Parts: sequence; structure tokens; C-alpha cells
Amino acid sequence: MSPTFTINSTTGSGTFPHFVGPFIDGSFQPTLSPSPATRALLNPCSEELIVNVNEAGPEDVDQAVKVAQAALKGPWKDFTGRKRRDILLSIANVVESHIKDLTLLEAACGKPYAEARLDIEEVIECFRHFAGFADKLHGQSFATEENLKSYTLRKPVGVCGLITSFNYPLVLAAWKIAPALACGNTIILKPAPQTPLSSLMFGQLIAKHTELPKGVLNVLPGGEAVGSAIVSHMGIQKCSFTGSGNVGRKVMAGASSSNLKSITLELGGKSPLIVFADADLDVVVEDVFGAIFSNMGQNCCAGSRLFLEKGIEEDFLKKLKARVEQVKIGNTLDPQYDFGALVDRAQFERVMGFFERAKKEGKSELVVGGKRHGSKGYFVEPTIYRNVDEKSTLAVDEIFGPVLSIMKPFSTIEEALERANATPYGLASGVWTKDLSKAERCIQELQTGVTWVNTYNLCSSHLPFGGVKESGIGKDLGAASLDEYTRVKAVTIRV
Ligand code: NAD
Repeated sequence: MSPTFTINSTTGSGTFPHFVGPFIDGSFQPTLSPSPATRALLNPCSEELIVNVNEAGPEDVDQAVKVAQAALKGPWKDFTGRKRRDILLSIANVVESHIKDLTLLEAACGKPYAEARLDIEEVIECFRHFAGFADKLHGQSFATEENLKSYTLRKPVGVCGLITSFNYPLVLAAWKIAPALACGNTIILKPAPQTPLSSLMFGQLIAKHTELPKGVLNVLPGGEAVGSAIVSHMGIQKCSFTGSGNVGRKVMAGASSSNLKSITLELGGKSPLIVFADADLDVVVEDVFGAIFSNMGQNCCAGSRLFLEKGIEEDFLKKLKARVEQVKIGNTLDPQYDFGALVDRAQFERVMGFFERAKKEGKSELVVGGKRHGSKGYFVEPTIYRNVDEKSTLAVDEIFGPVLSIMKPFSTIEEALERANATPYGLASGVWTKDLSKAERCIQELQTGVTWVNTYNLCSSHLPFGGVKESGIGKDLGAASLDEYTRVKAVTIRV
């Protein structure tokens, strides 16, 4: 077994297995693609090379599907729920004992060290949570007619293609892998091309330190070519996708034109935050700061549209500006910095493009930020615009960067709700008030999959996560996600 992945927190350089590429059937394999591609992964804080990754091609998807199909028929098939439970617990333990290296791999993607550490803790918790389901996948029994006994049972779906986005690399993978394994499936994971290292290390660790049979979990680094090969593969029965709406549509089309595999789509958002005048502004400022600026705004739930009740704008803005001025922007391998870099040059240029467009449109007032930080690394200053026009790009598009649009203030709850809901997205929303009836009305009427009240961004393995409208279909996490990874079979016996 080749050496594992480590990043040196002082120098930023890394040690890697002699070959970093497709991880199939328990080991790294050279790609089967006739035109092999490598991707240079740069640390976005320093723009220095971390490692060259050998990307998979569609031929590797074919190979991984064969391996995953064989694994479905192998010893894994006979693993009882209890045994799968123990495997999931052992996965959690392995991650826990490598928490430092995994944290550094995530921090090397530009994410502040403390946030990266919380991510890995969430991964551990997720596996422990779903371990508890592995031996409790029960059906129901039915009293239909005399002499008939009817019941349901849950069967694994089969080979699952899991495709993730770059912003929470191992967390998003865990949200899908843990329930998929708990339900007895086999897996082909395709991490985002910008951030594949923690997923590859995870695959290697699990193969080395747990009893999960080889071939149950395969990891294919790569981009669109690998993703679309997974989506349209006839041997894959399920595709769970996290990413943008544009690609989500391709996933739906690919599933539709191949074998009608079932799909889960976890897509983007333009989440509204509603602050009523009775809320404790000091608390709200901290929550709003985290809602939009954690992970430098590269968060599907980023609270990017802020609606303040008339009368509190100036006070609120003064406090939020002061909070923003406290951030320490810098190298995320060093825990003293709490604000990092965007994941790569493309993402950096995309976000900078919004500043240009905002200037041209002239429909909003820049309060703070709106520019690059320093001259090296993909750092963008935390940015706030106010009096943002409802039809402007800043109000409509998902920026996926550290940019808060403070909308024009609202006067009534009806107005706040109407404007908050005026978006095709429906992922998350936040409400701050001490008045329970106002909170309850917002909970009922906000068209989002998640609503947080007097807090934000709190995900738990217990709770289903996923959007409505154009933010997605289906759920990650919670008991609801078991439906994504099982087929319910109905049985009737004449007795
Ligand atoms: P993206 O859609 O560009 O890429 C997501 C994944 O899809 C990547 O692994 C990519 O390689 C792959 N891909 C690209 N083309 C494909 C194709 N034709 N077929 C199959 N797969 C393909 O998204 P991104 O830039 O990585 O992430 C940002 C987006 O993800 C944002 O919109 C964000 O809101 C969303 N997101 C949603 C959630 C959620 O849980 N709802 C969580 C994180 C991110």
C-alpha cells in the first residue's frame, strides 16, 4: 500500500501516494483512457502546485461499474445490517484517527482551518448516525384481505453514482456514502475536479483499515467527461448529484435518455434572510456574517439576500461592517486566518465578474469590499452592497462568493415574504425575530427546503436536507435519505 496523503502545514507542500488517480477495487489504478489527462491542483492561497492528479475517463467508469457490480454479488450481499453498522462505525473511527491530515487536505483548498476541522467532525458524525440505521431498515406489514399477508421490505438500489461539488468535499461525499452503504449499495464517487484529494484519501483509508469489501467504494477523480459517463451509464441504478442547476438539468436528461436511473439533485440557492426590528441585532450580525461569509460564500445555503425591517438598516449596517473589518484573510493552513481563498482561478474570476457587472448596472451601492485581497492567491474581500435592486444581477444570480446583497428595507411581513420568495430557487431561508407568531408565519410561507429561525447554517445528520423549486429534488441526510438508496418491495402471500 503506497504512502497516504499528507500536507505540511508550515510549508504547504505534500506527500502523496506515488500515483494519485482513479481508485478502483481497493487500489489506485492507471487510467484506461486512451487520452489520459492530468490536472494540476494548486493551493488557492499560494497558487503553488499541491499535486498533479491523473483524472479518470469514461473507460474507467465502465471498469468501476464492473467492479461495483461484482461487489454487489460478492460477500457484501450477505453482510447483515449489524455487520454494515459495524463497518460504518469503523469508517467513522478511521476518519477520526486521521482527522488532522484530512483537515489539512480540505484547508489546502482555501477553506479556513477551523471550518475544515468542523467539516471532518461532521463527516465522522454522519457515519455514526447512519450506522444506526443499517440494522433498522424495516418495512411495514398490512392487513389487506383475509388469508393474505402483505408486507414491504427495503432492497438496496444497486450501483450508485455519487457526484459532488467542490465546496464541502468530504462532507458532501459522506452525506451520500453513509446512507448508501447503510442500505447495502455499492458506490462510484466522483468528487469535484478542484477538490478530489480528501475523497481519494478517504477511499484509500477505508480500503486499508476497514473490512469494507474491495470494490464497494470506488473513487474517480475527473470532470465533466467522467460525470456524464456516470449519469448515462446503463449499469448504474442511482445518481445522487450535488452541484449547479445547469449541470443538474444535464443529470436529469442523462438519466432520462439512459436507464431512467433514479436521481437526487442538490442544487444551488439564493437564500433570503429576513430580520425583524424586534430581533437582538448583536446576535443577528454574527449569524448573518456566518450565513454569507462562511467558506467565503461558497455555500449552497449562503444567505445572499438580506431583508431588513425598515428603521434598523443604519444600526445593523454599522455593526455588520465592524464585524467584517475583523476578518483575517490569509493562508488557510494557518489556523490564525479565518477567511480564505476561492477554490480556483475560474471561481475567482467569476466572482470578480459580478463586481464589474454591478458597477455597470449601477443599481446598488457598494458598502465594503468589491475587490481582490493582495496580489497572490484567489482571495476576494468580504463584500456588502446595499439598496440592491430586485432585478439586478446581484439580487438574481447565485454568486457563490463572499457577496451580500442588502435589499431595500421592508415594511410588512407580507411584503418581506413575497420578496423573499420571488426567486426560482428554494434551498434555505433565515428569520430573526422574538415574536413566535411572526416566526411561525415565515416558517409556513417561505418556499424553501430548510428554514432556520434565530440561527443559520445548522445542518444535522438527523434532519433531511434539500431544496424545493429549482434548488433540487430529493433529500440528503435524515431518515428521508434512506428512501433515496433503497427500493421498497411489496410482498403478498396467500396463507
Ligand atoms: P458544478 O455543477 O459545476 O459541478 C458539480 C459536479 O458536477 C462536479 O463534480 C462536476 O465535475 C460535475 N459535472 C460537471 N459536468 C457534468 C455533467 N455533464 N454530468 C455530470 N456531472 C458533471 O457545481 P460546482 O461549481 O462544483 O458547485 C457549485 C454549485 O453547487 C452551486 O450552485 C451550489 O449552490 C451547488 N451546491 C449545492 C449543494 C446542496 O446541497 N444543495 C451543496 C453544495 C453545492
